[in-house]
Amino acid sequence: MSDRFVLAIDQGTTNTKVVLVDAEGRVLARASRPLPVRFPHPGWVEQDAGDLWGSVAEAIQQCLAQAPHARPAAIGVSNQRETVVIWERRSGRPVGPCVVWQCRRSADLCEDLRRRGLEPVVRERTGLALDPLFSAGKIRWLLDNIPDGRKRAEAGDLCAGTVDSWVLWNLTGGAVHACDASNASRTQLLNVRRACWDSELLELFGVPRELLPEVRPSGGVFGESVKLGLLPAGVPVAALIGDSHAALFGHAAFRPGAVKATYGTGTSLMTLTEGAVFSRGGLSTTIAWQLGPAVTHALEGNILVTGSAVQWLGEFLGLPDPARDAAALAERAEPAEGLYVVPAFVGLGAPYWDARARGLITGLTRGTTAAQVARATLEAIAYQVLDVFEVMEAEAAQPLPELMTDGGASRNDSLMQFQADILGRPVVRNLSADLSAVGAAWLAGLAVGLWRSLDELAALPRQEDRFEPRMSQSERARRLAGWREAVARARLQVSPDAVGA
Ligand code: ADP
Repeated sequence: MSDRFVLAIDQGTTNTKVVLVDAEGRVLARASRPLPVRFPHPGWVEQDAGDLWGSVAEAIQQCLAQAPHARPAAIGVSNQRETVVIWERRSGRPVGPCVVWQCRRSADLCEDLRRRGLEPVVRERTGLALDPLFSAGKIRWLLDNIPDGRKRAEAGDLCAGTVDSWVLWNLTGGAVHACDASNASRTQLLNVRRACWDSELLELFGVPRELLPEVRPSGGVFGESVKLGLLPAGVPVAALIGDSHAALFGHAAFRPGAVKATYGTGTSLMTLTEGAVFSRGGLSTTIAWQLGPAVTHALEGNILVTGSAVQWLGEFLGLPDPARDAAALAERAEPAEGLYVVPAFVGLGAPYWDARARGLITGLTRGTTAAQVARATLEAIAYQVLDVFEVMEAEAAQPLPELMTDGGASRNDSLMQFQADILGRPVVRNLSADLSAVGAAWLAGLAVGLWRSLDELAALPRQEDRFEPRMSQSERARRLAGWREAVARARLQVSPDAVGA
């Protein structure tokens, strides 16, 4: 093949990144465009669908301008998940905002379904808790708030989609309305076992089937690009995949027993399972990816506050560059016995799912320093990851011998060392800043024959380093006992909202 490059798009919440990857898996060029987020009411989070596509189109131009002779053999897309867009089939014009994953506007709808006793059905079909995070309630909200929304949807005049399908639609000039199974598995409308839309769920959420994209394998030719400035017409769009799933793929975590954690604002842990495993311990069942007819399932645990706790502490202390300075301060901490920070700022996510919990610092003494609190804040990230890791290992019924890591906060060496210490397992850090994009590029390249097998991908050079556990068993046990007690106390604190209710 003469065109030995893949163009990969990583459409994230705050920016869109585009990279060009060569046949050795190296990133040859990269560009990034910011994407504004709006907060029109408390708890509501929106983006403009036109801006979102604009950021993709601009980043593509900027990336390709750096490599004028490279004609991509394929395009791969990874994307923020759960966010939804509705647009007109005929004109391609959006008929409302993107309702972003963080948006809670469908909370009342979810509460109503819960009161009607429908949560077990939803959980049993989708592997997900009934929560406004997922797309189903967001689609329903849009339909209820677009003039004639339901009528137009039933008539087939409208298209709904997760971000992958909106990007695909635009890349192909409106020729293809499809999404991949990993994105579909986060909508709460998919039967997660069979990887197809579930009639009963569509009915329950009031979403007409005519509105929805076709669910297809994550790797495979979805359609061909139209000419878009420097991007020629006819380049196959050969992969769509959710960003967290793409990071797992980029780690070459192709078999059960591999687990990754992405350390950003929050942290997502994901591990492959043999078939769909339904959690009793606060994890989600999801589709990692689908290759041809083969659906690969995973367990996922989402921790709500990890990297953002470091940012919070830096701001709390009035540091000029909050996250970086707080991390540097932590390096200067003397050991502190019994000091814990539980960053339950918005309740606790996996594995606890306790919306009423609130943050706390325990074990303060007259001698406690800001550096020690900074250190305890970083350690809280590792403890939370351990809590999810232990549930995952038990439920996946599979030993997880090491943890693969990526994301902004994983750059912190002390955090990675402490993570290895407290897990009692090695931590293998991937140093790529573009791991989701690389994962999507691999998937697309695999689909068009640039690479022939998962083994070939796994053999591509990866920039990694390794942290071995050094803490004694007894110290680990002592520290963990203190952490668990601190979490229990955080769960006794009731949020002011709950008190007022
Ligand atoms: P996201 O993709 O969620 O926006 P990133 O992967 O860019 O997040 O990571 C940014 C997060 O990492 C921020 O929450 C920030 O506070 C945290 N962070 C940045 N630098 C450090 C550091 N040196 N140590 C620990 N956390 C950090």
